[in-house]
Amino acid sequence: MTDTPAETDAAPSHFIREIMRDDLAAGRTTEVVTRFPPEPNGYLHIGHAKSICLNFGIADEFGGRCHLRFDDTNPAKEEQEFIDAIKEDVRWLGFRWDAHEYHASDYFEQLYAWAEHLIENGLAYVDDLSPEEMREYRGTLTEPGTDSPHRARPADENLALFRAMRAGDFTDGSKVLRAKIDMAHGNMNMRDPVLYRILRQPHPRTGDAWCIYPTYDFAHGQSDAIEGITHSLCTLEFEDHRPLYDWLVDHLPVPARPRQHEFARLNLSYTVLSKRRLTQLVADGHVDGWDDPRMPTLSGLRRRGIPAVTIRDFIGRLGITKSDSLTEVQLLEHCVREHLNKTAERRMAVLRPLKVVIENFPEGEVDELDAVNNPEDPDGGGRKVPFTREIYIEQDDFMEEPPKKFFRLAPEREVRLRYAFFVTCTEVIKDTQGNVTELRCTYDPATRGGDAPDGRKVKGTLHWVSASHGIPAEVRLYDHLFTAEAPGGGGGDFLADINPDSLEVLNDAVLEPALADWPQGKTLQFERLGYFVPDPDGRPGRPVFNRTMTLRDSWARAQKQDRKQARPPGGKAKG
Ligand code: ATP
Ligand code: MG
Repeated sequence: MTDTPAETDAAPSHFIREIMRDDLAAGRTTEVVTRFPPEPNGYLHIGHAKSICLNFGIADEFGGRCHLRFDDTNPAKEEQEFIDAIKEDVRWLGFRWDAHEYHASDYFEQLYAWAEHLIENGLAYVDDLSPEEMREYRGTLTEPGTDSPHRARPADENLALFRAMRAGDFTDGSKVLRAKIDMAHGNMNMRDPVLYRILRQPHPRTGDAWCIYPTYDFAHGQSDAIEGITHSLCTLEFEDHRPLYDWLVDHLPVPARPRQHEFARLNLSYTVLSKRRLTQLVADGHVDGWDDPRMPTLSGLRRRGIPAVTIRDFIGRLGITKSDSLTEVQLLEHCVREHLNKTAERRMAVLRPLKVVIENFPEGEVDELDAVNNPEDPDGGGRKVPFTREIYIEQDDFMEEPPKKFFRLAPEREVRLRYAFFVTCTEVIKDTQGNVTELRCTYDPATRGGDAPDGRKVKGTLHWVSASHGIPAEVRLYDHLFTAEAPGGGGGDFLADINPDSLEVLNDAVLEPALADWPQGKTLQFERLGYFVPDPDGRPGRPVFNRTMTLRDSWARAQKQDRKQARPPGGKAKG
């Protein structure tokens, strides 16, 4: 599979594609222009990936373009670190914006001029109500609001006050600029929404130039219009803001007429996808930063070893709809496993080592055995693996008193060592507490490569690493960060649903020598154990690996189970 977005876009058609097709056919649109508009107040998460894939993907499909616009209108929470991380993540996902990087803050002067335009036309006024009073005057879903006593201010007075707001004559929060629409409107967003607020906070880009900042509602649509956005795609919670979006565009001398269309956001089970909550996880130290491999952030998923192509594949399978739903995180994991099973190279590693001494193998000798890099890839090549007198196997691949279906190593039993020989356990060595500390085995040199010339069979094949040639490593095993399908669901505290066992650190792992300098970012399979990727915390001689995922695919199994149950009794299902 190649790594370009176009080739993984196997998505079924959806309503947004149809809208664009119709707009182009009817001549309402000549070139599709979309935008991805993150607020730089945190790192991007996999929910954002849905918006990114949609906006960039569909613009590309129609030969148009997609802008990357930072919606940086709230300097209280925005930082350069986030801007840089967002760009890195969009690039990593495989999308390019070329010269089309914009910032809402670039439009502050224009937005200000348009605010004056509204005032001059009697469509906006300066209000002195306190935030609490404003809330009271606003009414409720069932009761109309009440006009502010300042609503009737004449335009020239409003203009003078607004200019004084900009000049810094008033304290933070003491005045706002509001649109003059309708305090009895059925849609609360239309009850004279705030357009500007006073906030003395240096901005990452405009510094101290402003002490008033436009609200999201005022900045967003006008930024779309300035950039000539044709289709402004956003999530469903903005549906109720669309009348305001349209009202502003209709009452301002904007250069274009963008249209807003809403789609359902991505919700994932066992995951939180709200920046407020993710920020809290980081700030309170529940995770080790925004790129902790347990985080659903794109940087966390990357550090976890999840390839960008599998995220695009996953998003493509979801489709774009208008109804909210919860997607099982197991579907994402299934996409990752499916891809890695085909592409990831195999190597051997022992996570919890148990020493095995092969008594009839000469001391100091090394036998270089041939190992296949990827049985799923005929062109994947091979490598040599050193076999020595002392090796490690996995502790749980041995049982002194094995139950019935345990086919791995046990006293007097013969098993295969992957790519190597048949070995038979002849002695179990224990410490004073009775723990098994070492096994003694013999090997059969005639089984070199893994088969017995006399045709005898063994039931188990174990992975192993040479004790003298192996590389000591740290391995970090991850599980879901939350134990609840919907963390904090039912009004509870989402922090109470944190999985206390989401990270297990193994300090005594041993890797085959070929893993000494495995490239960063390249996910591989440790045979029989799962998919792993090097972590940047590793150093020469002491690599650190993160477990991307185990091999077992519970999602695929459940699907199979469902199909089985759907079969008519007594008959085979078709297809
Ligand atoms: P959050 O709701 O997590 O705080 P946000 O909406 O405040 O996120 P923005 O930076 O404003 O974050 O989002 C940028 C774009 O990404 C918006 O157009 C938003 O609709 C979209 N987006 C955010 N979360 C999701 C999601 N879970 N699924 C799809 N799109 C999303
Ligand atoms: Mg938002």
